[in-house]
Amino acid sequence: WKHAPATYRAMLESSRGHGEQVFLVYEDERITYEEHYRRSAALATRLAGDYGVGKGDRVAIAMRNYPEWVVSFSAVLAIGAVAVPLNAWWTAPELEYGVRDSGAKVVIADGERAERLRDSPAALIVTRPAGELPPGAGDLAEVIGEPGGDVTLPPAEIGPEDPATIFYTSGTTGNPKGALASHRNLGQAPMTVAYSTLRSVAMAGKDPATAAGGRRIILLAVPLFHVTGCFAVMLPAMFTGGGLVLMYRWDAGQALRLIEREKITIITGVPTSAWQLLSHPDFDKYDISSLGGISYGGAPAPPKLLERIGDQLPKRQASNGYGMTETTALAIFNGGPGYLSRPDSVGLPVAVCDVEIRDPLGHEVPVGGVGELCVRGPGVIAGYWNRPQETAQTFVGGWLHTGDLARVDEEGYVFIVDRAKDMLIRGGENVYCAEVEAALYEHPAVDDVAVIGIPDDEFGEQVGAVVRLKQGTSATGEELRAFLGGTLAPFKIPVRFWFREAELPRNPGGKILKTHLRKETLGL
Ligand code: ATP
Ligand code: MG
Repeated sequence: WKHAPATYRAMLESSRGHGEQVFLVYEDERITYEEHYRRSAALATRLAGDYGVGKGDRVAIAMRNYPEWVVSFSAVLAIGAVAVPLNAWWTAPELEYGVRDSGAKVVIADGERAERLRDSPAALIVTRPAGELPPGAGDLAEVIGEPGGDVTLPPAEIGPEDPATIFYTSGTTGNPKGALASHRNLGQAPMTVAYSTLRSVAMAGKDPATAAGGRRIILLAVPLFHVTGCFAVMLPAMFTGGGLVLMYRWDAGQALRLIEREKITIITGVPTSAWQLLSHPDFDKYDISSLGGISYGGAPAPPKLLERIGDQLPKRQASNGYGMTETTALAIFNGGPGYLSRPDSVGLPVAVCDVEIRDPLGHEVPVGGVGELCVRGPGVIAGYWNRPQETAQTFVGGWLHTGDLARVDEEGYVFIVDRAKDMLIRGGENVYCAEVEAALYEHPAVDDVAVIGIPDDEFGEQVGAVVRLKQGTSATGEELRAFLGGTLAPFKIPVRFWFREAELPRNPGGKILKTHLRKETLGL
């Protein structure tokens, strides 16, 4: 290694060493490490020259998981500018909010997003145009051209503490906030992933997720515009010379085809994507023998999921990672035998991360007690973009207050109990929605579930559940209540069930949008 990976630019330069290995795969397109470097360097040169993008300027990226997403990201960071990935699911006003909030000078968008960004004040560069380019927009393919082997990055002075990215939080509990991460923060991501992987490999005695030749071929089941996709998957892949297979959108059937065709060794997504893969009617029809591991995170994973993986994908390594936009991805990780022994835990803090459980007064809670999970470490960002008040509330004395309720056992394993905002209080008793949801997932007819609070004059709140049943099965509210009676205390058992045929509303991070469900079912 010629450079220490303290800046993204250094990582990008090092990655060129993987030369003719394939880095990015999208449908029939294959981009090698050398090509990725050349395209990134060519785009960086044009951004710095024609578009006047300098250090600290924001450049937004608004596209699906195309290879150009990664090229754009690399080009922006390599010249010391700040990449602002925007959620591709956002509508026109939401995308405009992202552009305005970040003050982006340029937006690099795919055709679909470009249509929604017609009125944006930023300069527009478009890839895969849907029709004619919006007036004044540049065509990304022309901007990049066909760079030869002599193309190099334009000069830039970048330090580890310089800002690198603004990722927006998922907006599960409120408006998405821009999390400003430094080069050092994101440089930590491949380290924590490598550490956690090595650790579970050491515990298991082998690494099932490497193909012949030691390469990892990863199927990315989540968007690149969230930290899981970008920092916990793309960056470690680039850092270790792995292959990254991209999908336009998550689709379990397509994923099975890709596992067979690309000889995928590991698939990374959210618990829902893993669940859908295992539930797919064609699951047994494909040769998925290359698959050595399945990893997920970003949302609660029901213990039942691990059991299903054990049944349907024996000897494969499953892992569950806990992280936030504010921790630049992974902060706590469970894999290998640790996960098998504690399927309801998110595991141990990654090597460089400190964890504390605190009560509302900020005092540490004794082992086993529930309190707010607080995290400190080099991956934790310093604050939000342009939001001094929320920054001051969330980042206190170097500690990130996650808003998640958790407990830690004698051996340091962390259990996420619920989001503080999701917890219900029924007649003075705390009810953790996540616990009731996990218990309902155990019922053979339940496909998906969300527990919500119903306002109640007598108890303050009552427990309600929105349930989607598996196709061809049936269950009544009474049956589900009787089933829960075996595992849950009576006050935790839902008094009301809503059955839905449609899928539960989720954001691209796999999180159920409870605000939508509350509105739909209760009109709140
Ligand atoms: P917002 O902050 O805008 O409301 P968000 O918190 O969903 O949205 P993210 O940063 O994408 O935005 O998600 C982080 C949250 O996801 C964590 O605070 C936690 O509640 C949840 N989470 C992440 N990983 C796990 C996991 N492995 N198990 C349970 N919950 C998880
Ligand atoms: Mg959050």
